[in-house]
Amino acid sequence: MTDSLFITCSQCGAKNRLPASKLSDAPNCGKCKQSIFSHSVIELDDSNFQRFIQNNDMPIVVDFWASWCGPCQHFAPVFQQTSTLFLDKVRFVKVNTEQAQQTAAMYGIRSIPSLLVFKNGKELTRQAGAMDQSNFTRWLSQF
Ligand SMILES: [Zn+2]
Repeated sequence: MTDSLFITCSQCGAKNRLPASKLSDAPNCGKCKQSIFSHSVIELDDSNFQRFIQNNDMPIVVDFWASWCGPCQHFAPVFQQTSTLFLDKVRFVKVNTEQAQQTAAMYGIRSIPSLLVFKNGKELTRQAGAMDQSNFTRWLSQF
């Protein structure tokens, strides 16, 4: 089945099944009726991270960050801006490693920021350190 995808709503976390052709039409959630992609960047923690990455058929890029990390602060607007370019292609997730310590430990996050790409719950690749927007966009385009 390549023509329908499971996508988790960015508002209520409900799992939606969507035809791939609908992704670019700003689809609404079957449960809360809001736009599924209303938040281009979603913040997750230990309680909902696993569920989110398992219940999305789109690639997901995760920014593991921390409030004390200078490069993370600089990278945050790049991450936000880039997310709007990939709205129906890649989900953008931020994980605060000070709060989501279990998740950070599970993936062995040692340097901050770390960017991980997941597909169907599996890690595809990771990149330690921030990127500028053009490098980040190029890096993501391969997914
Ligand atoms: Zn919803």
